[in-house]
Amino acid sequence: MKKAFFYEELEDKKARCNTCPRRCILEDGEIGFCGIRKNLRGKINLLTYGLPVSSSVDPIEKKPFFHFAPGTDVYSIATMGCNLRCKFCQNYSISYGWSEIEGINLSPEKVVKNAEDTGSKGIAYTYTEPTVFLEYCLDTVKKTGEKTFNLFVSNGYMTKEVAGRVGENIDGINIDLKGGKEFYGDLCDVHDDSPIYDALKILKRKGVFIEITMLIIPGFNDSEEEIRERVEWVKENLGRETPIHFSRFTPRHKMSDVPPTPVETLEKAMDIADKTGMLYVYCGNIPGHQREHTYCPECGKEVIKRRGMRVVEINFNNYGGCNNCGCEINIGGKDYMDL
Ligand code: SF4
Repeated sequence: MKKAFFYEELEDKKARCNTCPRRCILEDGEIGFCGIRKNLRGKINLLTYGLPVSSSVDPIEKKPFFHFAPGTDVYSIATMGCNLRCKFCQNYSISYGWSEIEGINLSPEKVVKNAEDTGSKGIAYTYTEPTVFLEYCLDTVKKTGEKTFNLFVSNGYMTKEVAGRVGENIDGINIDLKGGKEFYGDLCDVHDDSPIYDALKILKRKGVFIEITMLIIPGFNDSEEEIRERVEWVKENLGRETPIHFSRFTPRHKMSDVPPTPVETLEKAMDIADKTGMLYVYCGNIPGHQREHTYCPECGKEVIKRRGMRVVEINFNNYGGCNNCGCEINIGGKDYMDL
């Protein structure tokens, strides 16, 4: 357990958690919406500190990060808990479909050691929502040296003050922009999605490397208009060099009766992003598709070839540019690669 970084004490031993935009006001002894933050005598505490329920070594491409230190492995951890209630959650049993906190004891020091021992170049806070286990993440970041990078895979639903702190501490973030306002309200129990966009702007200003995922669910967030709107926001606010991953939905949880996303729908989404002027557009969960590779925006040559989650070839020059024409490719974390 660890005292939270962002909360206010209120009268009668109540406290307000300021970690995510829900800003839960909790009575003494009460637990917040995420299930892992508790008010103890007027102070908010993180119950899952040092207790990951999941830890494994993954290729960075699995997060997905295609433009940050491509080809490296990342040590990935999650604790239980989430601040959203997505009906299509892929990790339901550890995000909010549980009754008792579980996990193994793993101090921030041990997380860093495990990352080093497994040859991982970085640590990813992922699978559930890192915002809600923030103190564990940031204490782990503090223990990492210059040889190890830190990444969030997040829903972006965090307060501005948390976005600022996260932005000062991590190297990269992938945020899932799930849909329009109605989609967030109906399927995720988020009735104001503006904090996600505010957080993205703050993270961008702080210099964090950003990639965007858009999970496309047939009949729910696959209209051309809605996709175009989100892509245009990304272009205007984060830049056309921001990688976008359109990810295929597979039936899950409360949406197990919805069919998987047709490949043509994802291709249409990619076409919209291409026409909007985005430079690095991918489709996810369709192994073998030609859009899992990175193409040079100048000469069109394949600069990174992938097969599924693995990089099979990198055609960079010594500076991380296109080997064919020298065009600069938007790649973060080059120092962690063997160029
Ligand atoms: S992090 Fe948890 S306790 Fe804090 S405001 Fe969000 S849901 Fe509530």
